[in-house]
Amino acid sequence: MTTTVTLTGTGVPIPSPGRAGPGVLVRHGAVALQFDAGRGTVLRLTEAGVGLHELTALFVTHVHSDHVIGLPDVVLGRWIQDHVWKTGPLELHLPEGEPSRFAERMLDPYAADIALRMEHVQEAPPEPRLHTFACGSQAREIWSRDGVSVEAVAVHHEPVPDAVAYRVRTPHGTVVISGDTRVCDEVEKLSRGADVLVHEACRAAALHAAVAGTPFEKIFSYHADTVALGGLARRAEVKHLMLTHLIPAPDDEAGEADFANDVRLGGYDGPVTVGRDLMTASLG
Ligand SMILES: [Zn+2]
Ligand SMILES: [Zn+2]
Repeated sequence: MTTTVTLTGTGVPIPSPGRAGPGVLVRHGAVALQFDAGRGTVLRLTEAGVGLHELTALFVTHVHSDHVIGLPDVVLGRWIQDHVWKTGPLELHLPEGEPSRFAERMLDPYAADIALRMEHVQEAPPEPRLHTFACGSQAREIWSRDGVSVEAVAVHHEPVPDAVAYRVRTPHGTVVISGDTRVCDEVEKLSRGADVLVHEACRAAALHAAVAGTPFEKIFSYHADTVALGGLARRAEVKHLMLTHLIPAPDDEAGEADFANDVRLGGYDGPVTVGRDLMTASLG
């Protein structure tokens, strides 16, 4: 048995060929944990060989549309197939506040469809099982099963409230998923000695002059600068850094190399993966 980490989407709100919206899948034996569900997540999970009925739980980092726009698709897709698989509703874990409010309302626009399907085939409504948790600056365990546990900690994506990073512990090691955040002490502490750190990446320092005075300057200000991220990964002694949520999305190998070079400039000399959809790292 191994633990695998698969990028189900490396994109951002601006569409880019081949890049689904943000998401990470961590598998350990029969445990399959999905983190965020951006655009196209259902397709990427299918391509990764994971049926919606096989998901153990789904965790949301924050409510920016690019991270949750695929969530109704995951929930309804599982529900529609449940007369075959009988696995029941999906388990969703979300920070209290905006994420839980979003999840409570996200199926409202589908009320007519849900009613029609229940008259026809489905025996019960979709009703995902919502588990909410308070997020603070100290990491705390929010889920565990079969030797796998998940911790959450608040991150810095202001002005977005209720944004978290997650750490997954398995018998093979630890995987940290940053969600969206500036480079921050909370993720650095969470990542200490991590086997894999999946971190969002923005070439803010390199493109500082090019975006000055444009709306991108504000966008870049609440994301993780790749040079500073290299410093974080070095200090935390991360064993493998996987970059995702790439801003701006590279469209060739030279563009990808720029991300890796920024991380080197920041001082990290371990393995760096500039993410593409469905890239997978293995532990154990
Ligand atoms: Zn995002
Ligand atoms: Zn965001």
